Amino acid sequence: MKIIPVPCLEDNYSYLIIDEISNEAAAVDPVEPEKVLRICQEIGCQLKIILTTHHHWDHAGGNEKMKELVPGITVYGGSLDNVKGCTNKLENGDKLLLSNDISILALHTPCHTNGHISYYVTGKADEVPAVFTGDTLFIAGCGKFFEGTAEQMYRSLCVTLGSLPKPTWVYCGHEYTVSNLLFAQTVEPENTKLAQKLAWANQQRQSGLPTVPSTIEEEWETNPFMRAELPEMQEKVGCKSAVEAIQKIRNQKDNWRR
Ligand SMILES: [Zn+2]
Repeated sequence: MKIIPVPCLEDNYSYLIIDEISNEAAAVDPVEPEKVLRICQEIGCQLKIILTTHHHWDHAGGNEKMKELVPGITVYGGSLDNVKGCTNKLENGDKLLLSNDISILALHTPCHTNGHISYYVTGKADEVPAVFTGDTLFIAGCGKFFEGTAEQMYRSLCVTLGSLPKPTWVYCGHEYTVSNLLFAQTVEPENTKLAQKLAWANQQRQSGLPTVPSTIEEEWETNPFMRAELPEMQEKVGCKSAVEAIQKIRNQKDNWRR
């Protein structure tokens, strides 16, 4: 299984997931359809399905155009009502097959939006799985709570995504990493993993490279919203539970300027 990040718009990521044997491909949030299809053409893969993480225009906004360009393509998403172009609604736990070797598990990860879906993708037994987290889990951050509660974000981050195998690659919806790490340092200035990751992320960006993927393990080490699960983090921010800590860190981040 091959995964290609496709930078779109200002700081969005679409992704291509490709079975290199059968050349079948899936696109995650292809907001700029022509850009994604050009890459398919260059590498000779056939786009079979679209996986939409959530209804915001910078994620679902390319679906209708993609349906014109690739007639008959299946568009998956968490809602038929507000996800543009969605043909097949997914529930938590639904499984799809991209090819003989690649399967996709839908994980309902609400809070940023109600119907937000993350996609857990597994290939052959010896391949490390990947999860596409849209605007729920960012590298060292999380999406704003537009349609949900801190309780939901806690479940989405620390239970649903946090339960995936630690080596799982994390591919998120935006390149916000440097800014997220700078904020994370204001919460945990003594966390050495944060400093290391920030130095690396700055280097990547200066070289014009993305900071995806991360891993679930690295997120447990550096993401303040996942680390809200730890009693020492809750104490640090003066809270008595993970949910309370996530809400407090979110409020701080919403008021923070670089
Ligand atoms: Zn969004």
